[in-house]
Amino acid sequence: MNEKIQKVHKKIEMELSKIKQDIIDTSLDLHNKPETAMEEHYAHSILTKWLKNEGFSITTPVADLNTAFVAKKGSGKPVIAFLLEYDALPQIGHACGHNLIATGGLAASTALGRALDNGEFEGTVLAIGTPGEEGAGGKIIELEAGVFDGVDACLMFHPNDQITIPWRHLTANAHLSIKYFGKSAHTASHGEEGKNALSALIQFFVATDMLRQHIPETSRLNGIITKGGDAPNIIPEYAEAEFLVRALTQEKVKEMVKKVEACAEGAALSTGTKVRIEQNSPVYAEMKNNKMMANRMAGYLEQTGEVVTAPVIKGGAGSSDIGNVSLKIPTIHPYLKITPNAVAGHSIEFREAAKSPEAHQAMLNMAEALAKTGADLLLDSEYFKSVQKEFAESGPDYPA
Ligand SMILES: [Zn+2]
Ligand SMILES: [Zn+2]
Repeated sequence: MNEKIQKVHKKIEMELSKIKQDIIDTSLDLHNKPETAMEEHYAHSILTKWLKNEGFSITTPVADLNTAFVAKKGSGKPVIAFLLEYDALPQIGHACGHNLIATGGLAASTALGRALDNGEFEGTVLAIGTPGEEGAGGKIIELEAGVFDGVDACLMFHPNDQITIPWRHLTANAHLSIKYFGKSAHTASHGEEGKNALSALIQFFVATDMLRQHIPETSRLNGIITKGGDAPNIIPEYAEAEFLVRALTQEKVKEMVKKVEACAEGAALSTGTKVRIEQNSPVYAEMKNNKMMANRMAGYLEQTGEVVTAPVIKGGAGSSDIGNVSLKIPTIHPYLKITPNAVAGHSIEFREAAKSPEAHQAMLNMAEALAKTGADLLLDSEYFKSVQKEFAESGPDYPA
């Protein structure tokens, strides 16, 4: 590694140590005020304020999303983007730890941005605010609106329990609403005049339970009933479910959605109700991890004392809208251990882990690794080219 890069790495370490406490305080602040997908107004305001103070120019809203933003520092190529997620889950708060994603990205862009201030090297650092990861597909909306046009590499991470891995596969995912329309009537005196929308919905769930026998073991069908009637003495005229259809590829998701639709239509037919099926967000795509970037990040992360293990690529996995970005732009989305305990994502225990001192130290270490990887992309044109070459020649990651 040449002297110039080493100097920039030192600068990144120094700047991160200066902002460490403010970054932790910001993470705790976000954790205390959880906001659900596309409602992240508080997070949007404090993150953009911080970046503005750092000399980033802020564009917001972007892609017609009020809580999305692009913060930019520097000019010209390459263009390196750190992606910030900051939505929480309904009812249980930051049980996916996106407060750490936001502040890790904030720390990395701040440190690399300050290194850029010296004017010793060229390039652009972006911090892109990507709202609504939990179901609303914010990144896909931004991607389609051109927010990522001209970006050469995207860097972010996700909190994890027990192990840190440089990359992992993701499943493609369709988010559906299933709506049944029936006819209300008194359940005791006028039952024969009613058409029961809840009966249709229950049949739909039973049919999809049976469909599970015939799907690959890496696919997933999961749903909840969001509306099932108003009173036990009224035949429900309306019932509604939200439903997720996951498979290894977008193509397989589309095939499975057709089968799920057939389950929904069959239930409507047998109950005399009508069904409407809506897609709530664009389909989340599978993940293409850039190994040149993931391995470089992993090396820097190990230097901070974090233990990085080889990814276990098997079975089902969650989904994220970063998948869609990764198919268009070289991207990394490593998983960072924030607790040594076996803790399920989207649980109360994970929410508590996401505000722990261990989580914050790991997040700061990750910010350092991401910022240094970003610096290498800006300073080392051979490395930058090798990342682009891998992207051109490789495909998404699937379990064996
Ligand atoms: Zn989540
Ligand atoms: Zn998440």
